[in-house]
Amino acid sequence: MIAEIIMNSSVRNLDRTFDYSIPFEMEDKIHIGSRVLVKFGNIKELKEGFVVNIKDKSDFEVKDISKVEEKDFIDEAKVNLAKWMSKRYFCNVSDCIKLMLPPGTGTNNIENRAKEKTARFIRLAKSIDEIEFDIENKKIKSEKHIRALRMLDKISDIPSKEFEELAEVTSAILKTLEKNGYIEFYENAVERNPFLHKVIASTNNLELNEEQQAAYTAVETALDDMMNSEFLLFGVTGSGKTEVYLQLIEKVLNMGKTSVMLVPEISLTPQTVDRFISRFGQEKIAVLHSKLSVGERYDQWYKIKNGEAKIVIGARSAMFAPINDLGIVIIDEEHDSSYKSETTPRYNVKDVARYLAKEYSVPIVFGSATPSMDTYYKAQNGDIELLELSKRANDASLPDINIVDMRAELANGNRTSISMSLYNKIKQNIHDKKQTILFLNRRGYSTFIMCRDCGYVAKCRHCNIALTYHSRENKLRCHYCGYETAPFNRCPECDSINIKYSGSGTQKLEEEINKIFPMAKTIRMDVDTVSKKNSHEDIINKFKNENIDILIGTQMVVKGHHFPNVTLVGVIFADGSLNIDDYRANERTFQILTQVAGRAGREKDKGSVIIQTYNPDNLAIEYSKEQNYKVFYDTEIKIRKQLKYPPFCDIILIGFNSENENHVIDSAKFVYKALRDKIINEKLQIILYKPVPAPVDRIKNKFRWRVIVKCKFDDKIIDALKSVTECYNEQGVKDVKISIDVNPTNMM
Ligand code: ADP
Ligand code: ZN
Ligand code: ZN
Repeated sequence: MIAEIIMNSSVRNLDRTFDYSIPFEMEDKIHIGSRVLVKFGNIKELKEGFVVNIKDKSDFEVKDISKVEEKDFIDEAKVNLAKWMSKRYFCNVSDCIKLMLPPGTGTNNIENRAKEKTARFIRLAKSIDEIEFDIENKKIKSEKHIRALRMLDKISDIPSKEFEELAEVTSAILKTLEKNGYIEFYENAVERNPFLHKVIASTNNLELNEEQQAAYTAVETALDDMMNSEFLLFGVTGSGKTEVYLQLIEKVLNMGKTSVMLVPEISLTPQTVDRFISRFGQEKIAVLHSKLSVGERYDQWYKIKNGEAKIVIGARSAMFAPINDLGIVIIDEEHDSSYKSETTPRYNVKDVARYLAKEYSVPIVFGSATPSMDTYYKAQNGDIELLELSKRANDASLPDINIVDMRAELANGNRTSISMSLYNKIKQNIHDKKQTILFLNRRGYSTFIMCRDCGYVAKCRHCNIALTYHSRENKLRCHYCGYETAPFNRCPECDSINIKYSGSGTQKLEEEINKIFPMAKTIRMDVDTVSKKNSHEDIINKFKNENIDILIGTQMVVKGHHFPNVTLVGVIFADGSLNIDDYRANERTFQILTQVAGRAGREKDKGSVIIQTYNPDNLAIEYSKEQNYKVFYDTEIKIRKQLKYPPFCDIILIGFNSENENHVIDSAKFVYKALRDKIINEKLQIILYKPVPAPVDRIKNKFRWRVIVKCKFDDKIIDALKSVTECYNEQGVKDVKISIDVNPTNMM
């Protein structure tokens, strides 16, 4: 018998099968999906590969398979999924198979380490003062060594593998530091149970209200009939979506099958998991996300593989867990951008879920208070069944929302970040011992220019997208079509010279608040304050338990937290997400504002939300005041249709990067021309834009260019792109890396 094997490699040329013969004694151990070791080329050590097909004979003279790993990690269905993904996402089959292997596989024998209950930790062997002394006296010279030592001083006791990732140092560097007496290694026990020391009171099913019951019954019918239907559970925060999920999962449990519940990475907190534990107990639940250590993930993975865990809760990668009796897929907060991977393989987990749900003939439930335009459009067209929960389940009323025009504040001489009405509300809240959240979205790198008097922001005349300011060249540029123009000193609309470059960050805001309210206790949550494991949780707990008046934060504060004592939410600068250079700016703004508003007044006290903006007439801001998704959707979908943006087409981003700028530009032009010829010759329905530098046109010394394609993503375009990039691989420059991203969530 002959096995077709794919080597475990990301090298593009190796993304094909190689024939090996199966020695007689291995025949009953080798099947599709087996991991094997083989001799490859002239390489001395054995190389790892995966069996993707078995056949009777080969056209070539073939070598024997050298060794077989006896563990059956993946099966034929998973191999087929990997093949499907590799075609759709333009990556190697082995890149996809890697997502399906147990955590730690292949990386320096971590697999063996993961099984152990201890790990190798590191700590400083000298005091930091001695180390600083040596740095001063040039005994330690390397930047990397200095950085690693200083970092280790702050962190102390950490598994060395984790530290390598965190500090971006190699194990060789750590060894040198050990040899020179600066650090030491030691074995330490690792905590392997992510649920830790928890005693959680059990809860029972609540009696569903009418809308919940209707939603439940619709999905239940699909479960009973083994229908591969899709549902959108559309309901405001607090409308009881999670209760519906819980009862559906119970139903699937009673059918003897496994449920997958996907949650955005950032909201996968112990609080979230607790609700499931309180209903089903720890034994049946497995949790998978990136904050767990490799060892913890390994344990959870096997708990699923062994069939012990029947409920898998996790971030997008959990969709690849070793489940062989899938019963339902639930994707909560389906609009969240973390469901799309931004690194190879650049998959969207919704596609993967669809593929698997079809394989197993099971339903998928998407849940959201602010569905993505794409999903709601499908619901409108009847591709997805719409299930609606229209009110909050525990009778809490929705908060009052007020929009404050910051142009008027400025006209009245208020130059602070806080409007008069927000100031008064915060003051009152501090007095009443209620809590406040201030939200400042500072996402993205781009800077934009805005008129402080009329709110004017320069937009591309072809694309209706905010132009981004590039300080290096002192130019405004469109990241879609390459249009460029000079920045203005005078507003083209109102002739004002009151021009503002970008907004201020959370740190500056906290200082400002501390000045305005010296008596108030504040805490800040953003990427700078959240770093170490659990720290996100620490801040939340502090805010909840330590009489802190004001929480100031970015995006992170808005996701799924329940703060009973928060009655006021202030959005400092709603325009932040409005002026990102992305066609989804309105959609994102509406989603964020709705989510932030959902943090206020979740219990008896009615909540209040103040949204500060320079664009009170923008539709996303206007409609968020009424929390009216449907009106927002109806308006936005017309714009999308008119400008031909998703869901009316797909956007494919072909990225080029290299340290050599000329090579990058030449490659982008080469691919552009080849595609253009193909479009003309084959009469393809594709809109092709000329090569432009990426918004962030240089990262880590690599120049980045791109070609953007608008079309319906189908087999024809897949073939066209494949043949063009293959042709490029033969003729093109080797140091340029090409990536293809279908509907990227981040256009930077
Ligand atoms: P969502 O997931 O839509 O944000 P939840 O399921 O968390 O909503 O429900 C919000 C609150 O309402 C929770 O405290 C929950 O216990 C409560 N709740 C949900 N469904 C019911 C119900 N049928 N009867 C009473 N309370 C409910
Ligand atoms: Zn103006
Ligand atoms: Zn443009």
